[in-house]
Amino acid sequence: MAEFVRYKMFIGGKWTDAADGEVFESFNPFTGKPWALIPRGKAEDANRAAEAAHTAFTTGDWPKLKAFQRGALLRKLADLIARDAERIAHIEVRDNGKLIAEMAGQLRYIPQWYHYFGGLADKIEGAVIPTDKAEMFNFTRHEPLGACLGITAWNSPLLLLAYKLGPALAAGNTFICKPSEFTSASTLEFAKLVEEAGFPPGVFNVATGFGNEIGDALVVHPRIAKVAFTGSERTGTKVYERAASQLKRVTLELGGKSPNIVFDDADLDNAVKGAISGIFAATGQTCVAGSRLLLHEKIHNQFVDRLLALASTAKMGDPSHMDTQVGPVTTPPQYEKVLNYIEIAKGEGATCVLGGGRAKRPECGDGWFVEPTIFTGVDNKMRIAQEEVFGPVLSVIPFRDDDEALHIANDVMYGLAAGVWTQNIRRALAMSERLQAGTVWVNTYRAISYMTPFGGYKRSGLGRENGQEAIMSYLQTKAVWISTATDVPNPFVMR
Ligand code: NAD
Repeated sequence: MAEFVRYKMFIGGKWTDAADGEVFESFNPFTGKPWALIPRGKAEDANRAAEAAHTAFTTGDWPKLKAFQRGALLRKLADLIARDAERIAHIEVRDNGKLIAEMAGQLRYIPQWYHYFGGLADKIEGAVIPTDKAEMFNFTRHEPLGACLGITAWNSPLLLLAYKLGPALAAGNTFICKPSEFTSASTLEFAKLVEEAGFPPGVFNVATGFGNEIGDALVVHPRIAKVAFTGSERTGTKVYERAASQLKRVTLELGGKSPNIVFDDADLDNAVKGAISGIFAATGQTCVAGSRLLLHEKIHNQFVDRLLALASTAKMGDPSHMDTQVGPVTTPPQYEKVLNYIEIAKGEGATCVLGGGRAKRPECGDGWFVEPTIFTGVDNKMRIAQEEVFGPVLSVIPFRDDDEALHIANDVMYGLAAGVWTQNIRRALAMSERLQAGTVWVNTYRAISYMTPFGGYKRSGLGRENGQEAIMSYLQTKAVWISTATDVPNPFVMR
């Protein structure tokens, strides 16, 4: 039997097994074989993690640190991630099936989150209120919330963690990450860097296991002050309800069914590349996937021809090869789900013009590969146009004019992102104003930065991550009133 890497959880600064010793296997999506064992934490482990994070928040060195010292620790962590970027990128490729070409770039970029939020740590300022009361000094302080929980999806574990951990620690909170049970390894590797950076024990913890076990136990744990969740709309709704039962603060980054709209005045060569990057990059397993391609009727046919010409050359295979363009689907349930949606689309009468099933190419080995798939003749009312597939499946929908494009684009329950391809600046501005989405890209797609707010309209989420406003969701405001009067006035009336 092959050697397994056996991981431990990171709780209160210690590497530990689950209380009952149980583990589960983590699989390599390219080989379809298990390669690592991960502790299967449950309620008792959730309790240990929550208590450790709470203790670190209330006692010990962390609450004593000055804001600039927290910032310095975050910047040190950034440097360690940069140092180990390549090593961790390869672990993610093995555990997740993501392309090394994408992961190498992502791991080199993630340090910026910790530099940016490290820099914000000592810029959290309250205000002095010019109060209307005589002999009174009134000011505000922004204070951390306490132990925060970050629950991440499997598609980009360390990037999604950076969105949460950077602002949480900069603001002075402590943190527990519950990574997806499908891709826990990179977060556990990352914890080694947090330890090396010298954060006090319990400031960052990783609690591994299944969502309905340790995940739920953490969400409802009384020591947890805030839940920052990235995942599906379905689970997010459940987490929101569970957290609401205890009035916890919640931010939600959920799914999408994003429109990528190409007008007849677009630079078509660039738009074809934008359409491809919108749906086949990361094998379509991205929340912002441009899974609905809206084409103006005048360019529809020639655009589809160009799209097919480029998409059919996509190189599938081993994600650890730099020139691979489409890798495997990350998990077996997701693999089945994508294949099922392809059948649903066929059953709904959409025309499959590319792919349309499992990839059986020799270079795909035993991996969970789906052929890049394109459906034309899609009506926006079909399930394939309304529901998130989270795989390399594109729905092409024609439109006649701007109003119709806008109507189709907005006619879904999601509102995460949208793409607009046009050379007309008035049209670009009008569309970016009227599209119901948290991000609108014009003549580009999938651009994301630590300094730009990111989040969803409608059922794509609540709150924003990244950018300066993200830090406010990890803070609470306290108003302080100090009387400078020498005696207390009439105690029976409000001051
Ligand atoms: P998921 O909802 O199945 O799981 C997400 C996380 O929630 C996992 O860690 C899981 O263990 C945990 N979880 C499951 N049940 C839970 C419960 N009852 N209580 C607490 N935690 C629980 O999502 P997924 O399949 O891992 O990820 C894919 C989804 O994530 C897609 O819908 C995608 O659009 C979304 N996503 C959104 C963003 C964004 O920023 N908006 C980014 C990446 C992924």
